[in-house]
Amino acid sequence: AKQDGRGLFRLYQEHMGRQDSEEFQLDQDIKAALTQQQFQLHYQPIFALGSPRLLGFEALIRWPHPQKGWIAPDQFIPFAEQHGLISRIDRYVLQQAVAQLVAWQAHWPEHCYISVNVSGLAFSEANFATQLLELIADAGIKPAWLAIEITERALIENIAQARTALKELRLAGVKVLLDDFGTGYSSLSYLNEFKLDVLKIDRSFIASMKPKIQDNPVINTVIALAKTLDLLVVAEGIENQCQCELLKSLGCDAGQGYWFSRPVPAADAVCWLS
Ligand code: C2E
Ligand code: CA
Ligand code: CA
Ligand code: CA
Repeated sequence: AKQDGRGLFRLYQEHMGRQDSEEFQLDQDIKAALTQQQFQLHYQPIFALGSPRLLGFEALIRWPHPQKGWIAPDQFIPFAEQHGLISRIDRYVLQQAVAQLVAWQAHWPEHCYISVNVSGLAFSEANFATQLLELIADAGIKPAWLAIEITERALIENIAQARTALKELRLAGVKVLLDDFGTGYSSLSYLNEFKLDVLKIDRSFIASMKPKIQDNPVINTVIALAKTLDLLVVAEGIENQCQCELLKSLGCDAGQGYWFSRPVPAADAVCWLS
């Protein structure tokens, strides 16, 4: 039995060791990816549902790892958040998006924006808003061309700081989108506490829509709520025409999803700009 116990312990040790070294490797790889600029942004178009016109793009990070191939954000963003690397990634992504706007400046439509996903931890840095506005000013682009997508977690964790930062950004003209709406645990209170521009209905609600318009009371109510609060509503994860038509009938302002386009490299995204 003693022997067994030690054997098990050794197994456990080896397992932990492997996990530790995998984590160490990922940590090193992310740092290398940042310095070597391996991360790329892909752009998914967002369209107004009423009269199909481009409203903007959501920037989504992509990682072509030199040995492991493409790594999805879900496989390294949560890790980066836990290991103190996310603010460097956020800064990198914001810089890339701003650089893209500079490149597109000549034919970028006045009303369009690029929205960037920003981690909740961004607000734990006191000068996040100021730094972002500096980045925008130095690049010489319009603040209204940039939007940030935040989740409720970002707001929960630093209420006072988040309020100050959002105020500063919105005052300058940067749009603020509340991402994944409906998946948190106390969404409604935040709508009272913070002034926002756009509410994004989480993909899970779109995926579970019923074909009859009257069988979708929750989405219907969310859209009505957004209207009352003077927010634009964007549905994410629209995968078919049926969902698109339903959302339009329910009064949803805008949408994005595979039905329109997958996220694509900047070079392919320009086709929507002319
Ligand atoms: P998210 O912000 O909710 O982004 C939407 C996700 O849904 C993206 O996954 C997008 O590719 C995917 N998607 C878009 N349309 C459809 C559709 O019609 N059907 C389905 N099934 N999926 C669709 P992606 O790119 O893998 O990103 C996953 C998550 O990783 C994002 O969720 C976001 O939370 C995070 N993320 C992505 N890029 C960044 C980034 O640059 N910075 C930070 N901090 N987080 C990011
Ligand atoms: Ca998002
Ligand atoms: Ca989302
Ligand atoms: Ca999400």
